[in-house]
Amino acid sequence: MVSHANISFFIPHLGCNHRCSFCDQRSITGQTGLPDREDIKAAVNTAVRSKRYSKENTEIAFFGGSFTAINRDYMINLLKSAYPFVLDKTVSGIRISTRPDAIDAEVLSILKEYGVTAIELGAQSMDDSVLSANGRGHTASDVVKASALIKEYGFSLGLQMMTGLYKSDSEKDLYTVNEFIKIKPDTVRIYPTVVLRNTALARLVEKGEYAPQTLSDAVNDCTEYYKLFKEQGIRVIRMGLHQIKQEDYVAGPWHPAFSELCSSKIFLEKAFEGLKIFKKGSYNIFVCDREISVAVGQKKCNLRALSEAGYNCRIIGDSSISAGDFIIKEA
Ligand code: SF4
Repeated sequence: MVSHANISFFIPHLGCNHRCSFCDQRSITGQTGLPDREDIKAAVNTAVRSKRYSKENTEIAFFGGSFTAINRDYMINLLKSAYPFVLDKTVSGIRISTRPDAIDAEVLSILKEYGVTAIELGAQSMDDSVLSANGRGHTASDVVKASALIKEYGFSLGLQMMTGLYKSDSEKDLYTVNEFIKIKPDTVRIYPTVVLRNTALARLVEKGEYAPQTLSDAVNDCTEYYKLFKEQGIRVIRMGLHQIKQEDYVAGPWHPAFSELCSSKIFLEKAFEGLKIFKKGSYNIFVCDREISVAVGQKKCNLRALSEAGYNCRIIGDSSISAGDFIIKEA
C-alpha cells in the first residue's frame, strides 16, 4: 500500500498579533529562511527522486497555521511557485493550514485559482471559553462558518483540535469532537497540548495555574476520539505532535510514537473482545507484519495486560493478514 505524503513547508506567521497560549511567538518571529520559489523547486525535485515517490499520493503542503493571514503577495508567490507542479501532475495538489477567521470568499477564490485542494483549519476547540482563555482570537462560530464556505468551494476540509488546553477538560474536548462530527470534515488531526518554552502556558505551569494532561490520560482520551471519528467515516490523519526540540519541552503528554500508543490501546481492546470466546490459556495472535509492535505494545504492555487476565499470548506477523485484522489460534 502506498501511503499519503506531503512535501511540507513551515510558513511562520510573521508579525502575528494574536497571542495563542501554546505558541512561542519569539521562536516564530526569530525564524529565518522563509521558503521561496527555489526552495519549493528543490524540495519537489528531491522528493521525486525518492524510490517511494507517488505522484497521485503526494501534495505540496504549506503548514504553520496561518497561511491565508500572511502577507498576501508572499502567499501568492508561494502558490505561484507550487502550482506548476500541480499543472504538470508532479503532485496531486496543494494543502494549506490556516486560522478559521482568515477564510473568506476572496481568499478561497485565490486558493482555487492556484490549485489548492485541501484546507485544514486550526480550530483547536469548539468551546468559546476555552478559545478565549487560550488567546485564540476567534470563536467556534468562525469555525462553523469557515468550514461551510470551504466545502461550498469544493475543497477537502480538515479540522485540527487540541486536547487538554488551559481551562479545558475531557468533557469540553469531547464536545469539540461532537461539534466536529456535525461539521463532517474529510480529515481530522488531534494534538494533545504540549507545553513549550516561552509560551503563556509555560508561565501558567510555572505559577501552578495550569497542569497539562498526563500521557496516559491523553492516550485514553485521544483513542476514544479516534474511534468516534472513525465510526462516522472521518479520517484521523495525525495524533500527537511531530518531533519537538528537547530544549523547548516544558511539560505535557509528548511521546515520539503517540499515535502508536493509541493504536496499541485499540488493539488490546479488540484482542480482549476476540479472546472472550476462548478459555484462559496460551494463544498465538497473528497480525499484519507491519503491526507487530502495535500489537505487542510499548515495553510489551499489551502482552502483560493479556497475561494478567490469564491469556498468555505470542504475537506473530503474517503477511496475508490485512492491517487492523488479526487471527487467534490456540498455541
Ligand atoms: S498559533 Fe496563534 S499566536 Fe502563534 S502564529 Fe498562529 S495565530 Fe499567531
